[in-house]
Amino acid sequence: MSSASSNASSPAPSPPPPVVSKSKIRFCPACGSPTKLAIPDGDEKMRAICSSCGRVHYENPKMVVGCLVEHDNKVLLCRRKIEPAYGLWTLPAGYLEVGESAAEGASRETLEEACADVEILSPFAQLDIPLIGQSYIIFRARLKTPNFSPGPESLECALFALDDIPFDSLAFSSIIVTLRMYLEDVKSGNIKFHYCTINKRVGTGTSDLRSFDIDNHLSV
Ligand SMILES: [Zn+2]
Repeated sequence: MSSASSNASSPAPSPPPPVVSKSKIRFCPACGSPTKLAIPDGDEKMRAICSSCGRVHYENPKMVVGCLVEHDNKVLLCRRKIEPAYGLWTLPAGYLEVGESAAEGASRETLEEACADVEILSPFAQLDIPLIGQSYIIFRARLKTPNFSPGPESLECALFALDDIPFDSLAFSSIIVTLRMYLEDVKSGNIKFHYCTINKRVGTGTSDLRSFDIDNHLSV
């Protein structure tokens, strides 16, 4: 009855979207009963459906927000004290909370991870990572006071000159992409707003951080 294949009638040449065949929602948040995977009537994707009350539980991408903090021609990076990517460098960033704006969330994450009080200057990049259901919004920001120190999730925080950014020790593809774009913009003297999609290169493992493609790059 429930086939995972869909739309076999349209032979589009583009690669198929990733099939999310598993759900993290194993128990119904409403009544606590186990869920089962099925395609609801009128839908075309597998969903977690409660085996008892029948509610359909949708999983949607999460938004990650963060700051690219500029100070004296340097940028502020934090070395992660938590998994994943323990010990690697990142921009201060994290999941947006319900009740806050993206800019508020980015400021909060910077305060939490780098104890840095920042003023948001402008949006710098939106990066979608469809495979893992994340969308990043990174803001340019500046320190209100020249103070920062590692928060509980950071081993250390430091300002890096652009030529000294530790590209071999960055935590996530999103951070690599953001900092590459920023470097290019600074060197060209024109800092823009960027949008792109980050896709895992076909045939590479999830741990291979640098095997990704940047698609649909738009900048203004
Ligand atoms: Zn239920």
